[in-house]
Amino acid sequence: MSDGSTDVLIVGGGPVGLSTALFLARKGIRPILVERRPRLSTIPRATGLHARTVEIFRTVGLEPAVQEAGMKIVGPGAELDLVRAGRATPLVMLGAQSLADLHKSFVMEAHDVDYDRFTPSWPIWCGQDHYEPLLFDAAVEAGAEIRFQNELVGLVQDSDGVTATVNDNGTPRTIRARYVVAADGVKSPVREMLQIGNRSNGVAGNFVSIIFRAKVDLPDTAPRFTLIYLMNQLAQGLLLFIEPGRWMFGVNYYPERGQSPADFTPERCVELARIAAGDPELEVEVESAQPWDARHMVADAYQSGRVFLAGDACHAHPPAGGFGVNAGIQDAHNLAWKLADVLQGHADESLLDSYEAERRPVGAATADQAWMLFRTRGQLADEDKAAYRDFVIVTMGYRYTSNAIVGAPADAELLPRELTFTGQPGSRAPHGWVDHNGSRVSTIDVLTEGWTLVTAPGDGTWLAAAQAVSAQTGLPIQALTAGPGGDLADDGTWLASCGVGPGGALLVRPDGIVAWRSAGPVEDQTQTLAAALATILRGA
Ligand SMILES: Cc1cc2nc3c(=O)[nH]c(=O)nc-3n(C[C@H](O)[C@H](O)[C@H](O)COP(=O)(O)OP(=O)(O)OC[C@H]3O[C@@H](n4cnc5c(N)ncnc54)[C@H](O)[C@@H]3O)c2cc1C
Repeated sequence: MSDGSTDVLIVGGGPVGLSTALFLARKGIRPILVERRPRLSTIPRATGLHARTVEIFRTVGLEPAVQEAGMKIVGPGAELDLVRAGRATPLVMLGAQSLADLHKSFVMEAHDVDYDRFTPSWPIWCGQDHYEPLLFDAAVEAGAEIRFQNELVGLVQDSDGVTATVNDNGTPRTIRARYVVAADGVKSPVREMLQIGNRSNGVAGNFVSIIFRAKVDLPDTAPRFTLIYLMNQLAQGLLLFIEPGRWMFGVNYYPERGQSPADFTPERCVELARIAAGDPELEVEVESAQPWDARHMVADAYQSGRVFLAGDACHAHPPAGGFGVNAGIQDAHNLAWKLADVLQGHADESLLDSYEAERRPVGAATADQAWMLFRTRGQLADEDKAAYRDFVIVTMGYRYTSNAIVGAPADAELLPRELTFTGQPGSRAPHGWVDHNGSRVSTIDVLTEGWTLVTAPGDGTWLAAAQAVSAQTGLPIQALTAGPGGDLADDGTWLASCGVGPGGALLVRPDGIVAWRSAGPVEDQTQTLAAALATILRGA
């Protein structure tokens, strides 16, 4: 039985599938998402949303709601009032025996990042069970169709599209799609169907994540943290503060010693929660106990014909650095506008090749960083130090090189040593505060609505060039001036920070990545801009 057709079929209703649905729907595409579970997951799982992910949420209007549902992540000693009030949590990992022994704990990792320097968005600590419903509501409101209890069981590709077979609550149906995005998790049935192999360093640990509620009163003098590496003779693992009164204890188990998730009976989970708290009498309500592996994996390909892998389906990381869901949402953000531009006739399919070219190196580097950090518990060996990059660089400082970037330096380093935003093609466009239409906004807010060309005020030729290219190609291009009296009004600092001088221009993609720039004047602006866009969108 056929049940319609769609431009994009998304497989999997986790955070990455839901984000893909939202980003596509906002671009005017009406995707169908199939999820085999009957509802959204109620398990918090990935909790740390890095600044770039929050920026992306900001551009789709979700930052305030996610902030409200979670807590701001701050530096170790910062904003203690907010921390005490349960509105913020410090980015600190402690080593401790239990919550009762925090006075004997030691700091394993602490990060004090001055985010204001380069982003309008601070990271947020928020359980997946809180932000997935927000993504779901926003995606549906924007026009995505989401079908629960729909399990994808087969895929056949031809030159025009993909025919998917779905088990719809016991009834087999087919859905015809131009493209498929598989955000179906680390075991990705789609990756298996397509016989895409992977590179893996293996599993660095096996865990059962126990989510429990308990009222644990920490004295005011206790050190604050988001994460504890629990080193207790009775149980080892990672204890996460999820939200006031709610905890996640990822307890190690050892298959080589004959242990298994079945050992984690409800009684044993209560006992383990009490060990973590250091209080044998503590009242504990166990919500769930789920097994997971600290697995390293990078798929050999992110694309097979008309099918794309995103999120855990193509990269899995041990939890160190909290990269997993962030890398996945950024995959979705990278892919969605490309699919939309192709489907809306603004680009040839060659643009889609840039998804794997850009995101696979980032996925591989991210998995390698997480593996290194997890294996060493953050105590890097000398031979690892050269390869190590700060987590802010891993999550937002990467530089793409692909057919969708013009003018990236040939020796561009994927993860540079220093976090800098200089307008280099392939990097995220710099953030600056500017006055725009009577409001004080970040450039990030303005540069992510579509293709944008920015030049200095008074240089009408670039604006005319953008109009001419738009008229020739049908591609909407937002043309703005930046500087004193400009559409993005400041003292000229921001455009200069992008490496654009008088007579120059900056072209930014819909995902906020610099596509191309001209540092100074060129002879024929229209021809130059048209050529850059033709290279990116038409492979010309
Ligand atoms: C217990 C646990 C704890 C975790 N803790 C952390 C953490 O602390 N920090 C962190 O960064 N990450 C953590 N992770 C990992 C994090 O949850 C993932 O990185 C994130 O969920 C990836 O999102 P995703 O959308 O790619 O995949 P998933 O969230 O796995 O979503 C995939 C979805 O696809 C659906 N699906 C699969 N096959 C089909 C099919 N054939 N048809 C239809 N639907 C299908 C699944 O039901 C699922 O809903 C944890 C994971 C687990 C399991």
